[in-house]
Amino acid sequence: MLTVARAFKVSLVHELAADLINGVFAGQHGHDFVIEVTVGGALDSKNGVLPARKNLTEIVNATIVRPLDGQKLNDFVEPASAERLGEYVFNQLKATEIGPELIGVQINETRKNRYQFFKR
Ligand SMILES: [Zn+2]
Repeated sequence: MLTVARAFKVSLVHELAADLINGVFAGQHGHDFVIEVTVGGALDSKNGVLPARKNLTEIVNATIVRPLDGQKLNDFVEPASAERLGEYVFNQLKATEIGPELIGVQINETRKNRYQFFKR
C-alpha cells in the first residue's frame, strides 16, 4: 500500500491537570501543533495518484483546522493532552469521506514530542 502524509498547523491553548505532568501544574499555555494526516490505498491507474489525496486538504481544513485553530483544546477534549488531540483528530476524520483511506494522525507538539495515532 502507498501512503501520503500532509501537514497542517493548528494553534491551540490547553491546560493540563497537575497529575499529568509529573506533579507539576502545567498552567494554560499554547502550542503551534503540526498535525500530519496520513492516507493510503492503491494508485488510480489513470492519473497515478492516491484517490484519498484529492480532497484531503479541503476536508482536514473544514473538519480540523478551521474549528480548532485559535481555540482552547479543553473545549474539545478532556484531559486536553496532545494524545487526546490525536485521538480526536483521528475520530473526526474517520467520519468523513477520507475515513476509509485514513491510516493515521501524528501530532507534533514540540520539536521533541510527537504522538502517533493509527488505526488498528
Ligand atoms: Zn502543552
